[in-house]
Amino acid sequence: MELLTIKTFDNPIDAHLYKSKLESGGVLCFLFDENMTSIYPTYGTLIGGVKLKINQKDWEKAKIVLLELGDEQIKICPNCFSINTEIKIENNIWKNLIRIFTLQKTNAWKCVDCDTEFG
Ligand SMILES: [Zn+2]
Repeated sequence: MELLTIKTFDNPIDAHLYKSKLESGGVLCFLFDENMTSIYPTYGTLIGGVKLKINQKDWEKAKIVLLELGDEQIKICPNCFSINTEIKIENNIWKNLIRIFTLQKTNAWKCVDCDTEFG
């Protein structure tokens, strides 16, 4: 049985929200590193936060639930249709701050699977 990490969270509350939404859509979920992230939030960030994992065979079902949630946090790669995407982090801290304050959207996302950048 292969588990896929479909989303990571900075805090366990959001992780549980997604878990319950997915499970009500018939997708069995597993949360990893939840306790470490609750007790040591900084450490949790270092290890990548709370990881929401599902069975690979449930992937299609999960994708539908995630799309129905219409969450702004979920971006689908226009190239390979993966939702394994993340906010592109600039190496320059000032560029990051400008991006946050101006809500800049251009090429703010990056696909982890195929490296495509999109807005
Ligand atoms: Zn992609």
